[in-house]
Parts: sequence; C-alpha cells; structure tokens
Amino acid sequence: MKRTIRDLKNIKGKRILLRCDFNVPLDNYGDILDDTRIVAELPTIAYLNQKGAKLIVCSHLGRPKGFDKYLSLFPVAVYLMKHFPNKVKFCSKVVGPEVDNAVEKLNDGEILVLENLRFNEGEELNSPAFVSKLAKLADIYVDDAFGVTHRKHASNYGVALKLPSAIGFLIEKELLTFQQAFEQPKHPFVAIFGGAKVADKLSLINNVMDKADTIIIGGGMAYTFLQAMGQNIGDSIVALDKIEEAKNVLKNAKEKGIKILLPIDHVALIKDKDKVIKTTGLEKGMVGLDIGRKSAKLFVDEILKAQQIIWNGPVGKYEDKRFKNGTIKIAKAVAKSGAYSIVGGGDSVSAVNASGVADQINHLSTGGGASLKLMEGKILPAIEVIDTL
Ligand code: ADP
Ligand code: MG
Repeated sequence: MKRTIRDLKNIKGKRILLRCDFNVPLDNYGDILDDTRIVAELPTIAYLNQKGAKLIVCSHLGRPKGFDKYLSLFPVAVYLMKHFPNKVKFCSKVVGPEVDNAVEKLNDGEILVLENLRFNEGEELNSPAFVSKLAKLADIYVDDAFGVTHRKHASNYGVALKLPSAIGFLIEKELLTFQQAFEQPKHPFVAIFGGAKVADKLSLINNVMDKADTIIIGGGMAYTFLQAMGQNIGDSIVALDKIEEAKNVLKNAKEKGIKILLPIDHVALIKDKDKVIKTTGLEKGMVGLDIGRKSAKLFVDEILKAQQIIWNGPVGKYEDKRFKNGTIKIAKAVAKSGAYSIVGGGDSVSAVNASGVADQINHLSTGGGASLKLMEGKILPAIEVIDTL
C-alpha cells in the first residue's frame, strides 16, 4: 500500500512539494479552455492547505523547449487565487534564489505556485542537479500528477527518491479504480477497444483477456484483426507486423470462451473521389473510418447487458464529423447501460465529453498514457518510488 496524504501526520508548518498535473489547454490570452485537470487536483490542495502545510505546488504545461510565455503557469495560479483567496502566491521561476526566498517567506496555510517545470530542461532529463534544487525546497513530497506517472521526470521520479513521499487523492482514486475493476470485476464485463495504434494496445487486450466476458474491437484497430481473419480490408489502416499476434488473440479468446466482437459493416471513404459510403465489404481504394449501423447495433446490444465496462479508443475517426456516429452511439450506450464504467485515454475521454454523457460515466481517467499503462496491468515508475506504509 502506498502512503497517501491521509497517512501524513503533523504536517502543520511543514514544507510540502506537491506535484500536480495542471497541463490544461490555454489560448493565446492565457484563458484556460478546459479546467478539468485543475478541478481534479483541488481536493488534494484543499486538504493539505486545511492542515496548515506550507504548500509548494509545481506542474508542467505543454511541451515548451525552454521559456515560452504562452505556456506560463501564471493563469493557473490566478485560477487558484480565486479558489483559495489570499493564500496563493506565484513565483515566476522554477528553482533558484527567487524560489528559495519565496519558500522562506511562506506562512503556514499558504500556497506557492512555481513556474512551468518544463522551462527547465532538467525536468524531463531527470537531471540530478535539478532534482536536488527541487528537493531542498521541501520536507515532504506529494505526487498527485497522475498524467505523468508513466514518466521518470525530475519532479516526480527524481524527487520521490530524495524525500519522504506520499500520493494525493487523485492518484489514489485512479489506482483504486483500476485495481478494483481488474481484481473484482462485475460480470458481464465488457471491454471496448478502438483507436489507431494496434501495436500499443495489444497488451491491453491481453491484460483483459482473463477477466472480461466480451471484448469489442472497433476503430482502426479492428482492421488488423479482420485481416487476420482473412477478410478484405481495402486500404484501411493495418499493422502488418501484428497479424500473427492478432491471430493469437482470436485463438486464445476462442479457447477461453471469451466473445470477441468486430465490425460487420463500415463507413468508408473512397479515396480518389473523397466520397463517403456505407458498406459491408471493403475493396481496394476504400478506407474504413467508422463502424457501420449494423456493427453499432451489435456492439450496443452487448454494452447494454454489461455490469462493468472499460473503454479505450474511439471506434472511428471521430474528429471528422463524417465518422463520429459510431463513437457517439457507443458513448451513449455506455452511459445508458447503468454498468460501472471506466473510460481512459486522451481521445476516448474527449469523445465522451463531445457526446455529452461525461456525467454518466463512473470514472473518466485523467491520464492518457498513464491510464493505458494501468489498463495494461503495468507498473507506473513514478508511483513505484513513492513510500509504502
Ligand atoms: P486514446 O487517446 O483514447 O488512447 P487513440 O489515440 O489510441 O485513443 O486513438 C484515437 C485515434 O484513433 C483518433 O485520432 C482517431 O482518429 C483514430 N482512429 C479511430 N478509428 C480509426 C480508423 N478506422 N482509421 C484510422 N484512424 C482511426
Ligand atoms: Mg490518443
């Protein structure tokens, strides 16, 4: 069991370095376009603040190469100032004398927000010098940046090795949710996979193989499986080097009595004419970009019978409105099913939001790559180094 912030005693007056994930979209005026990630961190900040800690909050934002005025964390600090009136300060540096000074002046129950960690190249390189400068700011380290737990960066992996450490409420919830879903699944358990990168996701399928009753495969992933079954997939996306593995998945599923559902019709683009057609068969020149009506019905019927659903990957190229219907139908069915539902993955969560059913999903995982790793049953390096109880 990892130590959580609830296990930290006597933290009044202690300097706590809290790593958050404030990687929010900003416009060029510094307006926050979607505050989901900040909202997700508020319970941890509020808890530590109420306990009277001196809180030093840090995060990355975007992928800057050095300083970038459009990727400053100042707008996030302003957001927090509104939430915690008269308690929040901002330092326009990441480490160095200004930061040391600002920390020195912090009173109990105050919150200091540092500038974007990635303005310092030591962050992603996990450089020992940068780790030391961060670590010396605090007595305790708390990680609540779930979205980067699959990375070994200075502000998570590096600092956790230097200070007594704990996880915040967001990471705790993410861990418990996936653990419970895989260790004590409710049946029927339906896993839905889509998206484009079969190579990355085959291990996901293998991880649910022993637990799920039905596996639905749509989106670009489906075509590697359809080709493995000997079907003509036209010019649809395919991972030719994964055909053998796909055959194995199909064989395993059959032996274990797990139902695998694949698309039986498609919304396809005829490439040279830029024309969209509905078809059951794909031929040369045609690219399958969404599941068709019959497939959607097949999938939805199964989803509505589920007691637990895990979903990663849109079942079509949903960013293009001509190919979004399948994904919207799946999202609505997951919401309507009443099953315990978990959706993970950057695009999958956007698709759920775009379908207007986000509030009916039990758990929308906040980390893209990190949630995929959890679904694959892999260990997240930045969590592994946190102290255990
Ligand atoms: P997530 O971010 O939720 O993990 P992915 O990034 O794996 O999901 O998959 C999303 C991407 O897959 C989207 O960009 C979408 O356009 C693409 N996609 C889905 N279906 C198809 C398809 N049939 N052909 C090509 N790309 C597809
Ligand atoms: Mg994606």
